[in-house]
Amino acid sequence: KVNQTLSTTYSGIKLPTAGLAGNFINGEWCKPVGGKTLAVVNPCRLDHIADVGAADARDIDLAVAAAKAAFPKWRRKAARERGALLIEFGNRITANADEIAKILAAETGNALRTQSRPEVASTAEVLRYYGGVIAEQKGETLPLGPGLFSYTTREPFGVVGAIIPWNSPLVLAAVKIGMSLGTGNTLVLKPAEDAPLAVIRIAELAADLFPAGVFNVVTGEGLEAGAPLSQHADVAKVSFTGSHEVGQKVAHAVADRIGHLTLELGGKSPCIVYADAGVDAQLDTTVNNIIAAMRFARQGQSCTAGSRLFVHRSIWDKVMPKLVQKVNALKVGDALDETTDIGAVINAERYNAVCGFIKEAMDAGAKVEVGALPPPAGEAKGYFPTPVIFSGVDNSWRIAREEVFGPVLVAIPWDEESEVLAMANDTHYGLAAYVFTNDINAAMRATEQLDAGWIQVNRAGGQIPGMSYGGAKQSGIGAEYSIEGALESYTSRKSVTFGI
Ligand code: NAD
Repeated sequence: KVNQTLSTTYSGIKLPTAGLAGNFINGEWCKPVGGKTLAVVNPCRLDHIADVGAADARDIDLAVAAAKAAFPKWRRKAARERGALLIEFGNRITANADEIAKILAAETGNALRTQSRPEVASTAEVLRYYGGVIAEQKGETLPLGPGLFSYTTREPFGVVGAIIPWNSPLVLAAVKIGMSLGTGNTLVLKPAEDAPLAVIRIAELAADLFPAGVFNVVTGEGLEAGAPLSQHADVAKVSFTGSHEVGQKVAHAVADRIGHLTLELGGKSPCIVYADAGVDAQLDTTVNNIIAAMRFARQGQSCTAGSRLFVHRSIWDKVMPKLVQKVNALKVGDALDETTDIGAVINAERYNAVCGFIKEAMDAGAKVEVGALPPPAGEAKGYFPTPVIFSGVDNSWRIAREEVFGPVLVAIPWDEESEVLAMANDTHYGLAAYVFTNDINAAMRATEQLDAGWIQVNRAGGQIPGMSYGGAKQSGIGAEYSIEGALESYTSRKSVTFGI
């Protein structure tokens, strides 16, 4: 157990207190068995924010055992009572929103005004959504014929192990918490090593809310803490959001015990601009939508980033200069500065990877519409690759095929609709797609033919609770954000048949 009165601040921001130990197991904060810690660094300032506990398999064992013990009672609680706790959790987050947003901005490098505050608001909204809707966990009655009465119920799996990345850690935590706890499962949540602090802070807010063992948080590295959680025999379901590579490993681990699995993986989403979307009145809105779709304000670190821009050739000369002008006007800087639009990428490894993509495309002769190669991580004062837009790139280049997960956009002109839809679908990813046109028939043809889990037409916003969200093709398995997703992905169907 840890001293619950320990209090620390970073740059005037109050940090999680008890939670700095990292592990919240069976209703108590405790240090990892091995006593190890990991450092959390601000990617804008490159200074140390705090140390948190670094768990290993022994801590995972303790957390899973607590979650397993809490399951039988929790699953029998009325769904609306579980929902009421989720609503209260969301309300507590709203009441502490500003403080949580600052922690989030400091550790992720996601700008306070454009990203971190909206993410905290979405986090509370997602929890309240599940809290309100979860009692709709209904089954069906089946007309099987005279003398028979059959019905189905939805049953929780047991212990859910959830593993999340750092790019939007709070809202992803909320999705996993809302879906698993709402449906009557218990949870062991492992945040990403680069951004565990805001998740720890919200866990502190929930510490007295759920019965002991229902909600557990274990911080640590992927190999030491994530892998044992994904491999644990008593984890009935794993819900993983992260990279394709780690998703494959997690899927193997779960397959070994025929466990249940949700995967939310990467993307290389197309953004298709039709000719009519580039005419005078529409041009401004379209360019704003392209910038939003690319998630420049989150340094492009979004699974749904519309990172392949296909512009109809007839409007190329209108769209590109306007896009360059607007991207140039975005302010890159410290995430905690209220005037900042774009913060920093998460760490040196990601920064170097993004720079590597930029250099490779430049060396191959891509035209730089805007941006430049940033200095190497060792010379940088913060991990700020400013936005880069390339043209003169073929859809077959690595920069147009692989997820950069940085503020790098590839723009390609198109002439024929069939050609652009084929290019858009020419990827093993299928997470999101964006279509900009006022031609309803063109929009209908595109949405019918694009292989993507989520297509937005004339909009480029974030996920909305209530709408199922999940990847097509290799972008994932299962759906989240909706009641249907919760029932499909976090429960199994039980059929009961009476002979009467
Ligand atoms: P990552 O796969 O490296 O890490 C994600 C999580 O997995 C972290 O908590 C990490 O500690 C853990 N992990 C690492 N190795 C592990 C292992 N061997 N076993 C179990 N867990 C392990 O991903 P990242 O770099 O943190 O995040 C970026 C990726 O996440 C991108 O590919 C992005 O597209 C994807 N993403 C997808 C969605 C979605 O909803 N589809 C949302 C956000 C991010």
